[in-house]
Amino acid sequence: MNEFDFIQRLRDQTRSRKHSSRLVTGIGDDASVISQRAGRAVVVTTDLLAEGIDFYREATPPRLLGHKALAVSLSDIAAMGARPLWSLVSIGLPEDVWSDTFKDEFFEGYLKLADEYGVALCGGDVSRTVEQIVIDSILLGEVSSGAAVLRSTAQPGDQIYVTGALGGSAAGLKLIEMGARISRQEASVTEPLADRGPHASSSHGVVDASGLGAERSEEDAIQTLLLRHLRPSPRVGWGIVLGEERLASSMIDISDGLSSDLKHLCDESSTGALIQSDSLPLDEDVVRLCGRRALDPLALALHGGEDFELLFTVHPEKTARLPKRVDGVAISCIGEITNEPGKIRIAEKNRVWNLKPQGFEHFSRRV
Ligand code: ADP
Ligand code: MG
Repeated sequence: MNEFDFIQRLRDQTRSRKHSSRLVTGIGDDASVISQRAGRAVVVTTDLLAEGIDFYREATPPRLLGHKALAVSLSDIAAMGARPLWSLVSIGLPEDVWSDTFKDEFFEGYLKLADEYGVALCGGDVSRTVEQIVIDSILLGEVSSGAAVLRSTAQPGDQIYVTGALGGSAAGLKLIEMGARISRQEASVTEPLADRGPHASSSHGVVDASGLGAERSEEDAIQTLLLRHLRPSPRVGWGIVLGEERLASSMIDISDGLSSDLKHLCDESSTGALIQSDSLPLDEDVVRLCGRRALDPLALALHGGEDFELLFTVHPEKTARLPKRVDGVAISCIGEITNEPGKIRIAEKNRVWNLKPQGFEHFSRRV
């Protein structure tokens, strides 16, 4: 298939999808045309995924890479309190990858997630690379004018919340680095393991006298953690609720790790924070596996990256208005914003210590 056949097929695939996208012109022209609405602001983000740095080709089924390319951008748009609407994706592929099934599977995963959130793919680019895969994902969304939730607007006394659970993605990455791989069945499933019905991963918590149940359960936990890393669930619903209801005073998504992302939020807001260690929502599968696999649930929850949960602050007078769950995802109150700029502290039993940011950086300072 040549480049033009490929674009034509993408064009057909996107045309047949029904989105109330206000897309005047989509794939096929020099640029896309989108009609704008009064009283709304456009929110735009981009994410680059480089092979060997942001993902390992042999551990990442193309379908899941397509999902993840969009998911990371959906998480950024959610962290602004905005609704995702239009996307573009550029792919740079080596010759051998272009000629295999990679691009078909990649776009299958990508478009499936786009459909889930009513996002219209409206453009992109294709190029050839010498050796490695590069993906650039661009996403545009909308928010009522003035309702975008920034990192810089937390106030002392605000309560700090996170969605979901922490540490699962970093544990999944560690397992990949130890040689664990997603099973073929999980690579092609359409729902995240943890979000399927109660019978799907039946061995959780089941006592089996033969001992086989315990084995299955460990393999289940491993597969779930691999999916946490390879197939993250962006908190799109929470983002929209927190933005449109004006519940959050500030927000960031957890991509580098809680300790780093909380520091970014506090630095931008010129505040500090006090976290309660007991309140951190540890990923239950990390807890389940920690004894045997040398995974430290608390360290992974504090410093592990790519959970793509939302970290947000709420004025004390608004906390009672927070929904308990959005799309089945709960939140936890993990601490409070303080008036000590730059100081992030964590209370554990009767001790309080300084939390150093130890999350992921592409280019860290070397001593
Ligand atoms: P140009 O050379 O003018 O940039 P291209 O041939 O690169 O045009 O692209 C033609 C059309 O196909 C454009 O609408 C572009 O947005 C779309 N397109 C190209 N690559 C992709 C892709 N990876 N994903 C989605 N749309 C794409
Ligand atoms: Mg082009």
